[in-house]
Amino acid sequence: MSLNSGPIKLGIVGVGKIVRDQHLPALAKDQDYRLAAAASRHGKVDGIPNFPTIEAMLDAVPEIEAVSLCMPPQYRYDAARMALAAKKHVFLEKPPGATVSEVEDLKKLAERQGVSLFASWHSRYAPAVEAARAFLGSTRISSAAIDWKEDVRRWHPNQEWIWAPGGFGVFDPGINALSIATHILPAMFITSAILDFPENRAAPIAAHVAFRTSNGLPVMMELDWRQTGPQSWDIVAETDKGSMVLSGGGSKLAIDGRVVHKEPEAEYPMLYKRFAEIVRAGVSDVDLAPLQHVADAFMLGKRNVVEAFFD
Ligand code: NAP
Repeated sequence: MSLNSGPIKLGIVGVGKIVRDQHLPALAKDQDYRLAAAASRHGKVDGIPNFPTIEAMLDAVPEIEAVSLCMPPQYRYDAARMALAAKKHVFLEKPPGATVSEVEDLKKLAERQGVSLFASWHSRYAPAVEAARAFLGSTRISSAAIDWKEDVRRWHPNQEWIWAPGGFGVFDPGINALSIATHILPAMFITSAILDFPENRAAPIAAHVAFRTSNGLPVMMELDWRQTGPQSWDIVAETDKGSMVLSGGGSKLAIDGRVVHKEPEAEYPMLYKRFAEIVRAGVSDVDLAPLQHVADAFMLGKRNVVEAFFD
């Protein structure tokens, strides 16, 4: 869809936790957008027209130029197809889909329709990620490790979709780590994985994954959803210029224990800035590397049954 001058008229779909926590506050301060309507079965956004489905929203508000799709990944593809078919630009929450091939399909459709598709990876926009990438780019890495351990009861209360097939279980936060790792480390692939499935759940609660880079460096990843107390969202690397610790989900960078980068986080404002940029440039931004690693972990991983999990 060709853009008129002025703010991008946006429709938001799947009004739940992330829309309330991040999308609405970011959009409220962003002059590049005008929130034109919302579509959700139950959720509502005050002050704009609300519709029960994306179809009803696009019919009733044809001036919408772009949509943000924020429902769980298992339900995103059909909505994305519908928006792209109507020549709307599409912002996909992470993970961009439940399978790699469905997102490839969306990529091709966006290209045919002449609109932009954005597979957003919010953790890549954490404040110290670019500094970590620059540091690692100037060093020789000997090993790296990812530790992403959090309390699922605290961060995902009553989210049944996350435990269902296509919800990815502990890989829902784990893919955030992978979105950073695939941006700052050399290309890598999985050599072995063990996935811990609670006996009453269809998705893993923990994962132990070994990667190697093409030149043989080991990268170990530990994901765990049972961590109470302090939470760990860390990527460490041993290099010829010292030990790097990127902690707090990409917010703080330390080299040999000395903090070299720490700024307030602004992930969603930056995501929307990037989306406006690609829409105006007439291009897409769809990197599937993090999603491919999750798919590979499920493909190669050994299933280990562990104690039942109850909310
Ligand atoms: P959520 O609140 O559980 O779900 C978002 C909304 O999606 C729900 O309120 C619901 O709205 C709609 N929805 C749920 N099931 C649906 C279905 N079967 N069909 C259509 N719509 C459905 O989840 P969330 O935490 O916002 O996460 C949504 C996405 O954002 C996920 O991909 C997640 O990985 C990503 N994300 C979440 C966080 C976070 O902190 N929670 C952070 C970053 C990214 P209606 O019932 O009104 O339709």
